[in-house]
Amino acid sequence: MHYLTDYHIHTRRCGHAAGEMEEYIEAAIQRGLREIGFSDHLPLVTHRDPELTMGEEELPRYVEDVLRLQDKYRSVLPIKLGVEADFIPGYEEQTLRLLEPYDWDYVIGSVHIISEWEFDDPRRIGEWDDRDVDDVYRCYFDLLRRSAESGLFDIIAHPDLVKKFGHRPQADLREEIERTAETFRKAGVTVEINTSGLRKPVGEMYPAYSIVEVLQQHAVPWVIGSDAHRPEEVGQDFNRAVAWATQAGCRETMVFAGRRVVNRLPLNEAEKRKQRPPS
Ligand code: ZN
Ligand code: FE
Ligand code: ZN
Ligand code: FE
Repeated sequence: MHYLTDYHIHTRRCGHAAGEMEEYIEAAIQRGLREIGFSDHLPLVTHRDPELTMGEEELPRYVEDVLRLQDKYRSVLPIKLGVEADFIPGYEEQTLRLLEPYDWDYVIGSVHIISEWEFDDPRRIGEWDDRDVDDVYRCYFDLLRRSAESGLFDIIAHPDLVKKFGHRPQADLREEIERTAETFRKAGVTVEINTSGLRKPVGEMYPAYSIVEVLQQHAVPWVIGSDAHRPEEVGQDFNRAVAWATQAGCRETMVFAGRRVVNRLPLNEAEKRKQRPPS
């Protein structure tokens, strides 16, 4: 997998991940990844929750840790400075203010919250019973589009996270997906195939294959991420993500630095060989 990157890696600071940062790095080296990036949860701008994100006072130390490890492993594995930030409408300014002081290589944007309800938080799973699932899905995709349009984010994470616990819509949402793909394309964001869904009740990568196809038809660029919350999850199931991406016609994965796509890597070995001049 030396042609792949994993830009979605958490740390213990978020309060719901295990292991030392160096263990995540060692796992990436073991798996033969080409480069990685840490992307721990940015402190929530609305309230403090030590089980969801680090506190604001920890952010400078998180950045220092990543930069220190970047230096330490410089000759072994490129390590990028990233962060996963929640999209919370009405709090764009506050989010920007938290992000501004640092030289991120990329910012991952996530929708985990629908009007103060953390719909993917196991502690709040009961609230699904009080909701109309179709309605939740529509709200989710609306927020996802707005997150892309906000300009706050470079990569949109797990673009159908709403299915995490296995709740499935009754309504036909193809129109929603289509509009979302158009919005992503127009906004110039990269989107993530996130393998962590395989480890969740839904048992399926984010997004569903049908969504991968629609996004690919709109030529939205891709990265693959594990959303590792434990060292052994780094790069996990990437062969399955590559299979889906290539089946849908995607050939490249994006390399980020300084909040820009600086390189595109062929997504699989076969592609890589084809591109070599004949000897
Ligand atoms: Zn997390
Ligand atoms: Fe998340
Ligand atoms: Zn995430
Ligand atoms: Fe994550």
